[in-house]
Amino acid sequence: MARGAQKEQARQKAQKEAAKRAKGASQLGARQAGLQIKCPTCMSLMANYKLLVQHMEAKHPKEKIPSEDSFAS
Ligand SMILES: [Zn+2]
Repeated sequence: MARGAQKEQARQKAQKEAAKRAKGASQLGARQAGLQIKCPTCMSLMANYKLLVQHMEAKHPKEKIPSEDSFAS
């Protein structure tokens, strides 16, 4: 009967799902890259401002922590 067509349909569906997954992953990567913040003291890259604050409190307690706004670009 229509076994061949069913198989083809399943293959197309799998292909679409894979494309969806790949797109989601690349978007996530772009978002993560966009959130990187550099420590002004030692130039280490942090994923976000909260981590930078934690890093500065731990590693550079004498340095003034810049405001989150100063990293917006
Ligand atoms: Zn640092």
